[in-house]
Amino acid sequence: MKQSQTFIPTLREVPADADVKSHQLLLRAGYIRQNTSGIYSYLPLGKKLLQKIEAVIREEMNAVSAVEVFLPAMQQAELWQETGRWFSYGPELMRLKDRHSRDFALGATHEEVITSLVRDEIKSYKKLPLALYQIQTKFRDEKRPRFGLLRGREFIMKDAYSFHATKESLDEMYEQMKQAYTNIFTRLGLNFRAVIADSGAIGGKDTHEFMVLSDIGEDTIAYSDQSDYAANIEMAEVNVNYPRSDAQLLTVEKVETPQQKSIEQIANYLNVKQEDCIKTLVINVDDELMLVLIRGDHELNEIKLKNALNAKQIEMASDELIQELLQSEPGFIGPVKIPSTIKVIADHAISSVVNGVCGANESDMHLVNVNPERDFAIDQYEDLRFIQEGDPSPDGNGTIRFAKGIEVGHVFKLGTTYSEPMKGLFLDENGRNQPYIMGCYGIGVSRILAAMAEQFQDDQGFTWPKDIAPYDVHLVPIQMKDEEQATLATDLYKLLTSYRYDVLLDDRNERAGVKFTDSDLIGVPVRVTIGKKASEGIVEVKFRTSGESKECKREELLDVLQ
Ligand code: ATP
Ligand code: MG
Ligand code: MG
Ligand code: MG
Repeated sequence: MKQSQTFIPTLREVPADADVKSHQLLLRAGYIRQNTSGIYSYLPLGKKLLQKIEAVIREEMNAVSAVEVFLPAMQQAELWQETGRWFSYGPELMRLKDRHSRDFALGATHEEVITSLVRDEIKSYKKLPLALYQIQTKFRDEKRPRFGLLRGREFIMKDAYSFHATKESLDEMYEQMKQAYTNIFTRLGLNFRAVIADSGAIGGKDTHEFMVLSDIGEDTIAYSDQSDYAANIEMAEVNVNYPRSDAQLLTVEKVETPQQKSIEQIANYLNVKQEDCIKTLVINVDDELMLVLIRGDHELNEIKLKNALNAKQIEMASDELIQELLQSEPGFIGPVKIPSTIKVIADHAISSVVNGVCGANESDMHLVNVNPERDFAIDQYEDLRFIQEGDPSPDGNGTIRFAKGIEVGHVFKLGTTYSEPMKGLFLDENGRNQPYIMGCYGIGVSRILAAMAEQFQDDQGFTWPKDIAPYDVHLVPIQMKDEEQATLATDLYKLLTSYRYDVLLDDRNERAGVKFTDSDLIGVPVRVTIGKKASEGIVEVKFRTSGESKECKREELLDVLQ
């Protein structure tokens, strides 16, 4: 590719609004441009890098017999209502209406779509297991899109889903997928760790996250300095045997338009029995009204809840009150199921057992200012404590350390969380209908690009690993107007291309300084400079990462590049 014909708009200045290194450099080196908050265009270099990352992912997915599909991004609301996630997913789900006023969502994830696809086709155990994957744009209206591609509102994900007749079959696939993920991140050269995770809004039990260790990571990992034990700190903390494990707090989300929903309907959406919801409360928190359903036999009474939420007002909600609110308050909030039992989780920074955080493993679903003394009696529960740096590792080997991580992948055993409510059924060996046992496996493709950009750079620009770099060789003639240089450059371009090197030829009429600066910024692993010695057939080869350079004859170039 001739540089004059492609589109690599490099910048000399550090963009003011980019606050992490990866984002600054991806902008400066002309890989991406921001369109609006959390939404980006990939320019030719960014797109090439994505394709290389995707190629590695595809190879490893195909190796575990997952098959590629492409599912719709625009998804009808009815599917999300079948699982209750039309409400529970909250404002992160991008919603829209078609010309007939029918509700749709832009795919934040695809469990509903894939389950609806498979349930219509796979009805016998003989056709299981089945694993399907896709690489596609996802939409999540993140509250705080930031750090460039790391947390976008439109981003690229590889998501795989597997369907099984038995738990053993799922276990087997889960292990294979974990290994495939390990292979992917190893091949990409990332400094990562697989950690025990919590299942968040997707639901399910066994789950691991793949974390790239990085100071800008938004997650904290607790890991043992002597064994393989590593957990997302939220999970490490959740591991404490919290006594109110039978209490379930169901809070709420905003729905765009008032919808008429009775407690019964809400209970249906949340997939809980109405009679299990022993209380339905309306509470006013920061002048936002929330509907809270509480179920199970527990001690969390209204006063504690009010304190915990710092609520102004709290009252029992009758069906009439809910109807009234739903009709009169456009901003009224529909229900969100906090996915598992109430958990005690605390950021270690505020875990002084004065100010705790209580809630679910989703950033904006925590109850802040929960006071463990006030809101629950800590002394009755000896095993209630927050994991700290320096603690012995739960597996008995070594000491706990903390590190920051970027979540680049996540594998889940979903079980029947989706197949049950969606009636995704197959006939087992005994002719009985059973719900599929499912797994799901996600990788943030565009987030990987940013995580790699964070890891592979120096003061001059990117230092991509060989297999991922957008080009293999950067050919830089110092003076395109010099006939000998131009001819040698063109000859070498042809030669290298014929040997299947992907070559970028800087044919621009720029000063040498500009060309070198851009070349370092872009970060092609090898630069071949064609200068004054072109007349003798001599070029300079410089390796981007090591900084090593040497002169060689044109005939020796292929050997030097090996
Ligand atoms: P996070 O905790 O960072 O919000 P998540 O747990 O919500 O991520 P998953 O639902 O597990 O994300 O999605 C699978 C993968 O998609 C994640 O592991 C991550 O790599 C990627 N991902 C999720 N949200 C984003 C985003 N907003 N921008 C870019 N990548 C994302
Ligand atoms: Mg998220
Ligand atoms: Mg997460
Ligand atoms: Mg996740």
